[in-house]
Amino acid sequence: MNYTFEPIGVIHSPYREKFGIPRQPSLATAAGVTLQLLPPYNHPDCVRGLEAFSHVWISFVFHQTLERGWQPLVRPPRLGGNAKVGVFASRSTHRPNPLGLSLVELVSVSTEGGVSLQLAGADLLDGTPVLDIKPYIPFVESRPDAAGGFVDGPPPLLKVEWSDAALRQLTELEPPPGFATLVEQVLAQDPRPAYQDDPQRVYGVMLYCYNVRFGIVGDKATVLEILRENQ
Ligand code: SAM
Repeated sequence: MNYTFEPIGVIHSPYREKFGIPRQPSLATAAGVTLQLLPPYNHPDCVRGLEAFSHVWISFVFHQTLERGWQPLVRPPRLGGNAKVGVFASRSTHRPNPLGLSLVELVSVSTEGGVSLQLAGADLLDGTPVLDIKPYIPFVESRPDAAGGFVDGPPPLLKVEWSDAALRQLTELEPPPGFATLVEQVLAQDPRPAYQDDPQRVYGVMLYCYNVRFGIVGDKATVLEILRENQ
């Protein structure tokens, strides 16, 4: 039996490509994300009472990786990219049904001219189709005593520094408020693929319309330059 679902909303996010998006929500809290509800779900009645909850579950489609299909075994970055676990023991984007589930902070609900939710710390690509929203219920869903398998705590963070050129560009380009903090939170997560350690390499991560160029040596990431791109 097949089931068909239609998006109830779409994500507007500073993350314009997969590379650099934190591997789970809450890791980069400066990521201001808007969930815009689509007709006919953008009626204020659909979100009545939701503003009383501080966090929501977002069910969404990994729409950008649909065509990659799935494998029974995956290599989680958290295990260094070599060890394999079953797809259902992972949060891999490559799943039989490419559905994602993120617990995010609900900052505000707007019902002016449609309905949109302001979310903080989401790990979602710009344009992500959202299938459902559910309130987070702490007394049943918070389990601090739960076993976390191979994900036994937050990953170690990199230190982040800025070159003089990047600091100058930060002032000249006038990016959105919170941009510098977002850059630092994203780079601190070490976005490199597992086991890639090339101190000469220059990486680029797209945040809003800015290509943030950086390098990593040891446990330190350095922002080298910020380029504005036409998108
Ligand atoms: N918290 C969710 C979950 O557990 O289902 C997502 C976890 S998944 C490991 C997080 C990664 O999904 C992000 O780092 C990003 O690379 C990727 N991602 C986010 N939105 C996506 C989308 N719309 N399509 C494909 N990949 C996406």
